[in-house]
Amino acid sequence: MMRKCGGCDHTDLQSLFSLGDIPPVNAFLLPSEVKNEIGYPLELFFCKECTLIQLGDCVPPEKLFSNYLHLSSASESNIQHLKEVADWVAERDSKKLQDKKVLEIGSNDGTLLSFLKNHTANVVGMDPAQNLAAEAKKRGVRTYTDFFLQESAAKLVKTEGQFDWIVALNVVPHTPQFISLLKGARGALAPGGRMMIEGAYVVETILNGQFDTIYHEHVYNFSIHSLNYAMKRVGLQILDVEIIPTQGTSFRVLLARDDDPEQASGNLKKLLGEEKQKGMTDVKTLAKAAEKIKAFPDQLKAKLKELRKKSASPIIGLGAPARGVVILNYCKLNTDDLQYIIDDTVLKQGRLTPGVHIPVAGWDHAPIQPGQVFLLLSWNYRKEMIKKLNQRQIQGTLLIPFPHLEEVKIG
Ligand SMILES: [Zn+2]
Repeated sequence: MMRKCGGCDHTDLQSLFSLGDIPPVNAFLLPSEVKNEIGYPLELFFCKECTLIQLGDCVPPEKLFSNYLHLSSASESNIQHLKEVADWVAERDSKKLQDKKVLEIGSNDGTLLSFLKNHTANVVGMDPAQNLAAEAKKRGVRTYTDFFLQESAAKLVKTEGQFDWIVALNVVPHTPQFISLLKGARGALAPGGRMMIEGAYVVETILNGQFDTIYHEHVYNFSIHSLNYAMKRVGLQILDVEIIPTQGTSFRVLLARDDDPEQASGNLKKLLGEEKQKGMTDVKTLAKAAEKIKAFPDQLKAKLKELRKKSASPIIGLGAPARGVVILNYCKLNTDDLQYIIDDTVLKQGRLTPGVHIPVAGWDHAPIQPGQVFLLLSWNYRKEMIKKLNQRQIQGTLLIPFPHLEEVKIG
């Protein structure tokens, strides 16, 4: 079957590189589940028509999001971020949020909507994960359990009416049929309404050889160019765009219906210009990144080997986020390389990392010896992690994979 671009339906797709077959990176396993594990290809393509960078094959979303272990409320810095998002939405609305109707697409455990409830009582969430809807209910957040697409959106509007605000954080890049999602959002947005989306802004980091944001959940790696193309197609317009330091780097885009009279801020034009200059829309620049990415596993393994020789005990992984699972699988690190991984997410503890099957445990799993070497897999929470190590008076070495392979002494 001919591959089609998920953004514009054109068939002019060029392969950039492949990370191999990797199981869904959030599917942490019980030992008994290992035998049923399936890997899916992670190959990245570039669309020459709309410049959208995308995976060639999609894992059925039901497999990824129906029993989701990533809770919004699991990390303190994520809670802080969601508080900030709630304030941002409230401040953006000059007429105050009071009595406004707010919809969150991909509302997870209801954390963001529970903050927005301080501004308006009319909040509704939609999320496909059954297990999270129960958590949201505990927070008093009404949640529809479904994937938000054109059809489910139309049904929702029949019941709830249109919305003054729609928020979707890290949802659009995760949705294979994101055009259907956006069309649904266009239909659910009231005249004069606003929509805000956030997602990983990683085209530049991919250009720099940083591959760990590439996994099945991230079907699309948007540039502002490719987002802008898609928005025009579905009848939405970008009013403003910011690049923010969430989860590495993210875009935050403010949208309105295309019949809204407000003009786009200068930020849109500025960013489009910068992207052109950096080669983010140029397939040749992207192809060069593949060389760096191919060289990374040998560099990391050589460094781990060198550190292991100097250390009395086996190396421990720190954090088991999705991006860490990509690093582990692409570099084929296993229990010979990392004895176990420490992660605060209780739902991951006692399970094995997808693909390479390294056990995940809490901080109390075993006493940590002086001189311990750690591989920091959640390197985007670097400051938070170093603070935690210092609080625990741990002395040793931290190997940080990105943005550059780096050794940091702690304690
Ligand atoms: Zn396209």
